[in-house]
Amino acid sequence: MGKQYKIAVVNGDGIGNEIVPAGVSVLRAVAKKYNFDITTEDFSWGAGHYVKHGEFMPKDGLETLKKFDAIYFGAVGLPEVDDTLPAKDYTFKVRTELEQYVNYRPVKLFSGVQSPLRDKTEEDIDFVILRENNEGEFVQNGKIFYPDTPNGCAVDTSMVTRLGVERIAHYAFKLARKRRKKVTNVTKSNTLIYTLGFWDKVIAEVAAQYPDVEYGKMYIDNASASFVLKPEFFDVIVTTNMMGDILSDLGGAIMGSLGLGGSGNINPEGDYPSMFEPIHGSAPDIAGQNIANPIGQIWSAAIMLEHLGEQEAADAIVAGIEHATAQGNLTKDLKGSASTSEIAERIVSFINS
Ligand code: ATP
Ligand code: MG
Repeated sequence: MGKQYKIAVVNGDGIGNEIVPAGVSVLRAVAKKYNFDITTEDFSWGAGHYVKHGEFMPKDGLETLKKFDAIYFGAVGLPEVDDTLPAKDYTFKVRTELEQYVNYRPVKLFSGVQSPLRDKTEEDIDFVILRENNEGEFVQNGKIFYPDTPNGCAVDTSMVTRLGVERIAHYAFKLARKRRKKVTNVTKSNTLIYTLGFWDKVIAEVAAQYPDVEYGKMYIDNASASFVLKPEFFDVIVTTNMMGDILSDLGGAIMGSLGLGGSGNINPEGDYPSMFEPIHGSAPDIAGQNIANPIGQIWSAAIMLEHLGEQEAADAIVAGIEHATAQGNLTKDLKGSASTSEIAERIVSFINS
């Protein structure tokens, strides 16, 4: 018998209840084929839990998660739950407390999926966005002064630390060494001169330690246009929390659908479990109809296995996705009529074949 992995499974809300079980069925198929063991435990946390219990997860939720090898996560959010609530920071809390400081978001074109950038091929779109996941614009330190008066004003603090920038930069250069050896720092240091000026300085210092990797920096406005005009330029992108958040939706869009994007919130040292989730939200507008695209969620399972060291099984899932997309007639977001479960079954039967 191979290794054993304990996985915490959090469906979350909306389509999470359909696509996470689809992903777990794929995980079980590869575990059987590649001879390792997966034990799962389900947690019904998220906005639905908030409606019932006034909190997104129990007080000891983080302690519970620490006992697992990895967390397989759907998405959080319901229309009736205000998403500016401090408690909504459930995912931010998990990402920071478990020091998942790398948000790893690959962008690639699967066979048979038409990118909205019509003439682009699979060779043209294949890069990774690394979003700093613990600090930057999202530290949520700010204040609204005199909100209901003519003198109302508001401030948000953005913060970057040397430790925070160095560790994501090292991750980026090491990853680039396994890929096409090119790192692009996406920044806006010409206007956010303090935080991002410091960010650029620290990244450049780390870059000097990897002379075999090509390094360059690009401003976010130019990078956004370049995603559309010359996506083949990019290999590994390293960027801040908010800029990475925005760029990865654009990355999902140029892949053909937001429903295709997978991701990992990674603690590279393995001190705490990492968490794997699709890049999209809970899509309450299409929940409960078995029409959501499960590929982003299933790809996240592959990223999880890669992180756990089960490379062959991870590759098999990606090959299964390629097989499913190459057959055509995908889910509604890709103008098809296939159901969530049909796509998952295509991938499972490819793995079993
Ligand atoms: P969040 O704030 O959690 O990121 P969001 O407001 O950005 O959420 P999503 O839930 O990502 O919104 O949904 C945006 C749009 O994309 C919706 O119209 C939704 O139906 C669609 N969508 C998202 N994920 C999928 C999917 N897996 N399959 C099909 N359509 C999807
Ligand atoms: Mg979103």
